[in-house]
Amino acid sequence: MRFLPVFLDLQTGPVLLVGAGDMARAKLRLLAAAGASVRWFAAGGNHDVSGLEAADAARIEFADGDPLAADLSGVIAVLCAGAGETGVAMAARAKAVGLPVNVMDDLSHSTFIFPAIVDRGDVVVAVGTGGASPVVARRVRERIEAMLPARIGDLAGLIGRWRQQVHGRIPEVSLRRRFWERVVDGPIGTLVLAGRAVEAEQALQDIIDPGVFAGAQATGEVEGRVTLVGAGPGDPDLLTIKALRALQDADVVFYDELVSPEILDRARRDASRVPVGRRAGKPGIGQNAINRLLIEAAKSGQCAVRLKGGDPFVFGRGGEEVEALREAGVAYSVVPGITAGLGAAAQFEVPLTFRNEALRITFLTAHKAEDAETVDWSTLTDQKMTVVVYMGMTAAPAVRAGLLAAGRSPQTPVGVFARATRPDAEAAVGTLDQLPALIERIDGGPAILMIGEVVTHSAPWRHANLAQLVSCFQVAAE
Ligand code: SAH
Repeated sequence: MRFLPVFLDLQTGPVLLVGAGDMARAKLRLLAAAGASVRWFAAGGNHDVSGLEAADAARIEFADGDPLAADLSGVIAVLCAGAGETGVAMAARAKAVGLPVNVMDDLSHSTFIFPAIVDRGDVVVAVGTGGASPVVARRVRERIEAMLPARIGDLAGLIGRWRQQVHGRIPEVSLRRRFWERVVDGPIGTLVLAGRAVEAEQALQDIIDPGVFAGAQATGEVEGRVTLVGAGPGDPDLLTIKALRALQDADVVFYDELVSPEILDRARRDASRVPVGRRAGKPGIGQNAINRLLIEAAKSGQCAVRLKGGDPFVFGRGGEEVEALREAGVAYSVVPGITAGLGAAAQFEVPLTFRNEALRITFLTAHKAEDAETVDWSTLTDQKMTVVVYMGMTAAPAVRAGLLAAGRSPQTPVGVFARATRPDAEAAVGTLDQLPALIERIDGGPAILMIGEVVTHSAPWRHANLAQLVSCFQVAAE
């Protein structure tokens, strides 16, 4: 990031604008509409303010003479249209006195640039690309425009008006944040967004004890909670909206080694992040210690998120954590995630069920597959069953041996899908007989194995066959 988005207080002094062309006029309109006072140097005295609101035009001071000789005292920023000699000289002057300066379309002489702006009153979103592509910035802005409720600014305004008062009544910071979260996410927020501001204001006023409202217990202690959140298989865009909200509300996030940094980045900036999984081959802190940490965090009044790869209840030990929380009397909830098997199936186009071909799915862990007692292979011989194997890389020879011994055909199609939904995802396809060799072809995990006829529909299978066909033709042609 070269340009940090900050917000300039336009009440503190005039902005100096140099130029009379279309670009200068566009910036003049923007500044005037935003409430700025503008000292405007227009070449040839061409100070045309037609089209501006009278109140906005009234804050524009028509300046004469050489802008390079202008008095800069009290000016809060300098804006210069055109990258010609004036722009460069103006930039040098502004920099010499430490003023922020923008020379339009000239990144090298600017110390600040204009973002694309979403303007909803008190809520303003600035989108920048470091000057690289205004078109991309505008596209992002369009998406945000479409996503933001029209009255979100009113909601911020309401909170702004009550801030001081609530601050006095709830001195404790995290409790206060919880209070406002409940206002924003609850019926009061809904009322504001529906345009019923008066009722919303009344409802806010009616809250007799804001402390209780925000989740304080009768004893005055803050009630914490734990949310088990499925982070999905890796692609941050596969997080659910609920997962995102939980991450944004978190005081602390306890995360596994499978959770990608891009997903962790979506947590509230001030939330502490605690790794509790295995790290680079080193063992993790153990399930009991994790349970203890979760309980302690909640009991100290924090909103804790337990962030797990895929889904918390699919080979994620979420069940044990929920049990420990229940026993300790801690409030909890579970947000599902896209499990790795489903992520891989979607990415590599493996229809896990298929009419007349695959009527059942089994999700299996091969964690202890070498241990003959743990997997009953005889239940997995149905030709019309797709078997999805988690933690199957090192146990691949045992998976192959178990299934073959139970009578599944060595020709059964098999796929190995590694790092599914991540940028470096990879696949190898073949037959059950070749399974250990397929694992060798993969450049590291995590990987999921899929066994069953449906693998023949997958994209890698189709491509492999196409490549084979082509090489057959080539051999024939030679
Ligand atoms: N709760 C997780 C599973 C945890 S067990 C879920 O629902 O997905 C860990 C196993 O998940 C790994 O050994 C691997 O088999 C699988 N896995 C996790 N992320 C994966 C990914 N991006 N691609 C392929 N397999 C993955």
